Amino acid sequence: MKHQQLADTLRARLADVQADIARLEEATIQPLSPNFSEQAGDLEALATNESREVQQIQEAEQILAALTRIEHGDYGVCDKCGADIAPGRLAALPTATRCIACAA
Ligand SMILES: [Zn+2]
Repeated sequence: MKHQQLADTLRARLADVQADIARLEEATIQPLSPNFSEQAGDLEALATNESREVQQIQEAEQILAALTRIEHGDYGVCDKCGADIAPGRLAALPTATRCIACAA
């Protein structure tokens, strides 16, 4: 399979991201502090965790999409114009779905 090495790297990254999502989920279900003065800080931490979790979920989705494209043999092809995405762009952003011209 083409891009085998990249697929391995993406799978490892996906495992990290999923572990992070699980940790954030875990933190989210902790009860708030019984002390009112500490609850504001708890809620702030919760909001931070949630926005981070949303980002991690988006990254996981992008990695899964890239792995699917590798599997189907259409990885590295711009989904808008069909041109090959420059290798330098893929190296910097392995989950890129569009060439530089179409992404702009
Ligand atoms: Zn394009």
